[in-house]
Amino acid sequence: MTLTILNPATEQRLAQLERAGVEETDAAVAAARAAFPAWRKVAPTDRARLLRRLATLVEDNHEELARLESRNVGKPISGARGEIGMVAQVFHYYAGAVDKHYGETIPVAGGVDMTFREPLGVVGLIVPWNFPLNISSWKLGPALACGNTVVLKPAELTPLTAMRLGDLALEAGFPEGVVNVVVGKGSVVGQRLIEHPDVAKIGFTGSTDVGQEVMRGAASTIKRVTLELGGKSANVVFADADLEKAAASAPYSVFDNAGQDCCARSRILVEQSVYDRFTELLVEATRNVKVGDPEDDATEMGPLVSAAHRETVSSFVEGTPLFQGDVPDGPGFWFPCTLVEATNDDRIAREEVFGPVAALIPFADEAEAVAIANDTPYGLSGSIWTRDGARALRVARALETGVLSVNSNSSVRVSTPFGGFKQSGFGRELGMHALQSYSEVKNVFISTEE
Ligand code: NDP
Repeated sequence: MTLTILNPATEQRLAQLERAGVEETDAAVAAARAAFPAWRKVAPTDRARLLRRLATLVEDNHEELARLESRNVGKPISGARGEIGMVAQVFHYYAGAVDKHYGETIPVAGGVDMTFREPLGVVGLIVPWNFPLNISSWKLGPALACGNTVVLKPAELTPLTAMRLGDLALEAGFPEGVVNVVVGKGSVVGQRLIEHPDVAKIGFTGSTDVGQEVMRGAASTIKRVTLELGGKSANVVFADADLEKAAASAPYSVFDNAGQDCCARSRILVEQSVYDRFTELLVEATRNVKVGDPEDDATEMGPLVSAAHRETVSSFVEGTPLFQGDVPDGPGFWFPCTLVEATNDDRIAREEVFGPVAALIPFADEAEAVAIANDTPYGLSGSIWTRDGARALRVARALETGVLSVNSNSSVRVSTPFGGFKQSGFGRELGMHALQSYSEVKNVFISTEE
């Protein structure tokens, strides 16, 4: 069965690929399994050297990878360049982490007790279409640093950069079988990885529905799982905030990547006393978002990833929005920047739209802001805008969410933990925290008695 890969901005064909099935998935798992014993024995400094080489190869091929990602996802080239830069940084970071992730000795009676960090074996990595190579690297870096071998399954819509990375890993000198990339349907290849008895762990990013499938499927073999799922994050703007700064930043916290971002602050909560002023500023800032050809350096927002996804996003906008921007004529899966006024009970405020649509919701005071922000099944990200430092900390502690920013909408850094509360998943990616999810603690007691 063949798979046609499209450019979402032009609807033109980018590639025609062979779709892998269960047989190819089993072959990749077998290759990863065969490569594991030798890979786990590679000296830490050599494993680090290979990760550094891969980072350097990503840097050497930066523009090619950024163009490929931009064309396949329809994302602006400026954003794609930033993402590929982060991929290289992630591999550099985990190259440096290989020999800094170690066990401990624990005081006990009658001997010495020590712990080791052991690799898990073969890990299956299932990634989505919104940040294909970036999210792949967040899983590959710690998995390889810990001594695991991997089978990476990119999303069928956007597999091109992951396939290229597979070639770069071989060029960097990773032994055959350590990094395997399999392109095929989630319900076939992904499902097989979840059920396969030789896969020790699934690192998954995607929808909450499929996250539930991963948990269910993993139960039969007690697989380890890390789940990074959806979000419905709140951007909470208090009356004492720098309103100009908060309003100028807000559109990019939800319309970046055309809103196809699990961290999108798609609920903008504004204190009632400044609601009108803030709304005025926000509409103006949203009007200025540059939507158009992703290949243009100045473009800030491109199309959605597919026609089917545009249908889904459209279904969320009923009636007349507060503001809706313009999109280019002609081909491409375009959807305009859209602002709607809502209550937290409306569908637009409860479900993840995964498109450029933001809901504006007023609140009366701090207690109500916290209550509304937490009134969601999700808990991934969020922002707090205030000049009151004590309030910033109080609210940050009260919000049921994994990744927060104060007077900023930026939540992802190579060296800091990333992941969700509640139905946004569990486990942490990035930083030193990610290493815990790709290794197992082994405890060894040695008697010193004569
Ligand atoms: P999915 O969860 O369906 O896809 C994510 C990955 O899982 C893809 O590689 C997909 O493969 C794979 N997959 C799909 N079904 C299965 C299965 N039964 N077993 C194993 N793997 C599977 O997300 P979508 O891409 O369809 O997006 C739908 C919604 O999910 C979005 O609208 C958004 O709400 C949310 N989402 C959240 C993301 C996040 O970053 N947290 C990222 C992407 C989506 P394939 O697509 O190749 O079939």
